[in-house]
Amino acid sequence: MPFVERERCPGCGAAGPSNAVTLLKTRFSDGAVGDFIRRFYNFDPSGLEGFYQADCCLRCGLIFQRHIGDAEMMRYIYSDLVTDDPPDKIPTFQADIRDWKGSRDGHELMALSSFLDKPKLKVLDYGTGWGLWPIIASKLGHDAYATELAQDRSAWVSTQGVAMISDDEISNHRFDVINLEQVLEHVPEPAKLLERLTRSLGGILKLSLPDAGRARNILASMMSGESRYEKIMPVQPLEHINSFSRRTLLDLASRLGLREAKPSLRDLYSFIPGGIPSAPRRIAKEMIRPFWTWRNPSNLYVWLIRDSMISASSQRPLSTQRRHYALPFLALMTKTRKRHEWLSGSEWPITDHPNWLADRPDSGPISPFKWLGGSRFWIERTPRTLAAPTTGIQP
Ligand SMILES: [Zn+2]
Repeated sequence: MPFVERERCPGCGAAGPSNAVTLLKTRFSDGAVGDFIRRFYNFDPSGLEGFYQADCCLRCGLIFQRHIGDAEMMRYIYSDLVTDDPPDKIPTFQADIRDWKGSRDGHELMALSSFLDKPKLKVLDYGTGWGLWPIIASKLGHDAYATELAQDRSAWVSTQGVAMISDDEISNHRFDVINLEQVLEHVPEPAKLLERLTRSLGGILKLSLPDAGRARNILASMMSGESRYEKIMPVQPLEHINSFSRRTLLDLASRLGLREAKPSLRDLYSFIPGGIPSAPRRIAKEMIRPFWTWRNPSNLYVWLIRDSMISASSQRPLSTQRRHYALPFLALMTKTRKRHEWLSGSEWPITDHPNWLADRPDSGPISPFKWLGGSRFWIERTPRTLAAPTTGIQP
């Protein structure tokens, strides 16, 4: 089956094989990659042309699979190899629809509404699947739009109060929130997609995707035979073709004129009292979720906002994020995360980076990290020895 080679880095557009180093290259039927495909998809990969080739861009640091399925192959992967149950067979889907005010997606939408200080949002869920997120948005009274390539899903979601639009129609709209839930790791041109969506963005672009900060270690373990899904998920053959770390994701965002926005605790708990779930187990989950979502070591969760918006509007700027770090146990969780990144050494491919580890500048409010001994683990995110492109995406 046919594969195409991505000649440019899909994160920054750097061209040519000399702009990237190959971290792992193997036939789809060989070694850990072959074991994984046979077991996970129940599919014999010996007929697949091309290679599983994980490259790391020397300009932007993105790790990406060089060979990806062509349009026909992608359709085969996502319609035949990947199968999922319809919504009436998914218990969690049904539970969330029944208790939408107490659901994860409901609470996320309430936090977005509180952060943007807008009771009625116009939202887009890009690649919505069975549409849980926009259906709940619609139940909350927001104007919900979604895109979905699979015809059967799109047709069903359109009967649930969600306006289905095509990719080409997105540019006719301006959205308060654009949601990309487990999408960016799958698309052939992630930077171009974000650039296009940013043109229709009037508020928050929410991204949630596997954290590939340890991708190099994972690829090394695959060379010695590791093929379990839970271990190799961020670099999953055939599907997770772009493996972003937090750093490469935020670098891409900054090239698009976006920066990270973090809601306050008040925003995150704005579901209280009206959105308390009905089941006790769900209550416990939802009370912890605002912390866990932003700190989950295996998933990147980011809200992005235009540079120009954060200062020019009444939205509270980034300084609000420090307030919820003031809780000591949160600071401990953060420290653990930073330490994890530091110890794995896999955030950035250039290991002799002079500014790679640096103390946080002593500006702003007193940081609890100091007395927790955390300064050692601060990773200064801005300096680079390699200049990242400053504007836009390369053609
Ligand atoms: Zn790149």
